[in-house]
Amino acid sequence: MHENGHNMGAVQYDAPRSSGDRWHCNDGWDVMCYADGGDRSSYSTSRCAIRVFDCGKDTYFDTLTEPGEWLRSHWNIGWSGNRFLDFPRAEPESTNAEAVPSG
Ligand SMILES: [Zn+2]
Repeated sequence: MHENGHNMGAVQYDAPRSSGDRWHCNDGWDVMCYADGGDRSSYSTSRCAIRVFDCGKDTYFDTLTEPGEWLRSHWNIGWSGNRFLDFPRAEPESTNAEAVPSG
């Protein structure tokens, strides 16, 4: 999961919790974070105590950004335009009671 994160563009240099020039982040057990010695590295385990993908949803992956969030206007691998991930499409409501199998 860590290397797939890199392949999709995590972690951008300017991201809020980025370690800087080594493409990681500073949030504890987050999948993309560790003390890598980057020029913005300030690694700490105080923010993320469990293994997750983007602890805090503010550094590289957020599927539901809100206005004003950094990831709303910068590269976000949780953006639906990321072609490496398959995001469910909203289906028009069916008029039938039974679901029709697709494809
Ligand atoms: Zn890495």
